[in-house]
Amino acid sequence: MQPSNILVINCGSSSIKFALVNPSESDFTLSGLAERLGSADAVLHWQHRGSKDSKPIANADHRLALAELLPLVEHATQGKLLGIGHRVVHGGEHFTAASRIDSKALQQIKSLEPLAPLHIPVNLQGIEAAIKLFPELPQVAVFDTAFHQSLPEHAFRYALPEALYRQHGVRRYGFHGTSHRYVSAQAASFSGLAYGDSSWLIAHLGNGCSTCAVVNGQSRDTSMGLTPLEGLVMGTRSGDVDPNLHSHLAKTLGWSLDEIDRVLNQESGVLGLSGLSNDMRTLEQAREQGHVGATLAIEVFCYRLAKSLASMSCALTRLDGLVFTGGIGENSPLIRNKTVEHLKLLNIQLDREANALCVRGVAGPIHTQGHPRVLVIPTNEERQIALDTLGLLKQHTS
Ligand code: AMP
Repeated sequence: MQPSNILVINCGSSSIKFALVNPSESDFTLSGLAERLGSADAVLHWQHRGSKDSKPIANADHRLALAELLPLVEHATQGKLLGIGHRVVHGGEHFTAASRIDSKALQQIKSLEPLAPLHIPVNLQGIEAAIKLFPELPQVAVFDTAFHQSLPEHAFRYALPEALYRQHGVRRYGFHGTSHRYVSAQAASFSGLAYGDSSWLIAHLGNGCSTCAVVNGQSRDTSMGLTPLEGLVMGTRSGDVDPNLHSHLAKTLGWSLDEIDRVLNQESGVLGLSGLSNDMRTLEQAREQGHVGATLAIEVFCYRLAKSLASMSCALTRLDGLVFTGGIGENSPLIRNKTVEHLKLLNIQLDREANALCVRGVAGPIHTQGHPRVLVIPTNEERQIALDTLGLLKQHTS
């Protein structure tokens, strides 16, 4: 039988997440994280068929960390690895789907660096290291933005001079596309509906958060924009603010652009509002103990999320369901309940017991009978990347 193991690699600035996915099995054969790369504390953690291990890899960079991974992958696959799928944060307007990586694709990904200056270089570093280590294997890039390339122009254009779009690519791209696609397809199959004839609102709520309207298997609108800062209140990101805020802060406080970027991306969101933490678990516990900042952060988070979902409903002609996913969406009955309380006009209402039950990987419906469907569906971006990689490789060989 043809082996169908795919190694999925997700390179961050100082980390590599990896998973060995066999799409015919529900659990990953091997998964793990190399973190603090480039420092004396660099370490590789992995999990192989239930057993956990880790190994210090002092001062390892992305290439050395992948080299450390090689024997683990060989052991786990017995040499039967079909290909490598790379998560790439930005595909611009060029990549509307996953793409086989050749020298032309590498050039095209490189040309997108101005759109994601922090992420594209590290994504490329991972790809180049993987090509050197696994030269005989096909490599595929799967883009966070690709799913949203189906947005209609009225949803992706900003009301700015046209030249900024035509000459500089200033438009809304959206992110988390792999997750939105995976959970919307799962939601359709879970509900016995054809994906190609279904209509969903998705709330992906993790450290980064975004909403998406998915109609007939296509993204029609999403809350993130040119960058992942637009839209919802997140762990440390502000989400939408007055577009004049930059000039206001520069003029009144003398802040530089770098300082403002740092504050909006790393010190805002629920962390900024609460003055306590970016972690929703910590905030929920603090709220129970009467912490004023944590209480406010949760209120603002849920209200802004509901507002975004209501605005996404403009892209739908009917609603087959609202789906919660991501670390917060999959685990927080409180956030789901508080959000839905603001959506009474959409007639959405939760069943208290069902809502409480759907935590820690439990999927299912959480709405009250007779009201629009609301589902909790754990996301699985690695699996979707493996499926996309496999799909593309099969196309090439058939
Ligand atoms: P992710 O980026 O998808 O891993 O999600 C991370 C976020 O999920 C963090 O804000 C966590 O606090 C949150 N999270 C994980 N478990 C829970 C939980 N049981 N209750 C509330 N939030 C949670």
